[in-house]
Amino acid sequence: MHPRFAKPLDTLSAPLKAALLPMLGDDFQARFTADQVATLKAATGLDDRALRLALLPLAAACSVAPISKFFVGAIACGLSGNWYFGANMEFAGQGLFHSVHAEQSAISNAWLGGETGISEITVNYTPCGHCRQFMNELSTAKTLKVSLPDDLSALQSFLPHSFGPADLDITDALMSPQSHDELQLESDDPLWQAALAAARQSYAPYSQGYAAVALQFADGRIFCGRYAENAAFNPSLPPMQMACAHAVLGGEDLATIRRAVLLESKDGQISQQDSARATLKALGSVELEYQAV
Ligand SMILES: [Zn+2]
Repeated sequence: MHPRFAKPLDTLSAPLKAALLPMLGDDFQARFTADQVATLKAATGLDDRALRLALLPLAAACSVAPISKFFVGAIACGLSGNWYFGANMEFAGQGLFHSVHAEQSAISNAWLGGETGISEITVNYTPCGHCRQFMNELSTAKTLKVSLPDDLSALQSFLPHSFGPADLDITDALMSPQSHDELQLESDDPLWQAALAAARQSYAPYSQGYAAVALQFADGRIFCGRYAENAAFNPSLPPMQMACAHAVLGGEDLATIRRAVLLESKDGQISQQDSARATLKALGSVELEYQAV
C-alpha cells in the first residue's frame, strides 16, 4: 500500500478499513470497480453517496499541493459503475496555470479508464468556477450531480446562465468517444504507440489540436494524458498536466520520469509543445521528445 493512505485509513470505521485494505495494494490505480464498490457497501451498510464521502480522505491523500497546502479530493462515478479518485496537483515554484484541480483529475482518471461519461462527482469542497466550466463540457453535463459533504445538487444549479459548447455550435462533448485515426505514426516504440492511441482519443473540437503525452517512469510504467479542450478555452486541460496527474494517482513520483513524449496533430490551430516543455522543465525532468503527425 502507498504510504499516503496510512493516515486517512486510520480515521475510517473498522468495517470500512477492513474491507478496503485488500484493495489498496501496490497495483491500486486510484479506481474501484463496480464489484469492489458493492463489496464496500455490503461491508459497511453505507449507501453510494455516504460511502464516497467516507472515502474522500483517501482521495485527498493523493493531493500534491506545495503552494496552497489545500488538499482537495474528488471521486467521479463512471457510467459503468466504477469509481475514480482525483486530487489537486500544483507545481512548486511555477505559474499557477500549471495546476490541475481535483475534479479535473478524477474526470481524467475516469476518461482514461474508458468511461464515456460520469453521473456524479463527490468533492470535499465546493467546485471552483474553473471546474464548473470544465464539467460543463462533459457528455453528461446536463444530468451530472455534484455531491458535497453538506449538499447534493445538479451541476447546472451551480451554473446559471452558463456558457458551453453549444454556444460555439459544437455538438461534441468531453468523454464522448473520439477516434482521430487520421493521426498515423510508424513506430514500434511502446511509448510512442501509447501516445498515438491517446492522441486519437483526445478532445479538441475548437482547435483540432489533437494531442497526447506519454510518460515513462523509472519502474517502467507508462502513464498517458489526452488533451481535453474547453469552450471557455482557459479551463482546457493540457495533455502534460493530465499525464502528470494520472501518474501521481497511480502512485508515481514525478521526479522519476525517464522519458516524456508529446504527439500532436500537425493540422491543429495550436501546439502543446512549448507548454509541455515548460511543465517538464518545472519538474527538472528529462527533455521532451516531440512529433507532429
Ligand atoms: Zn477547481
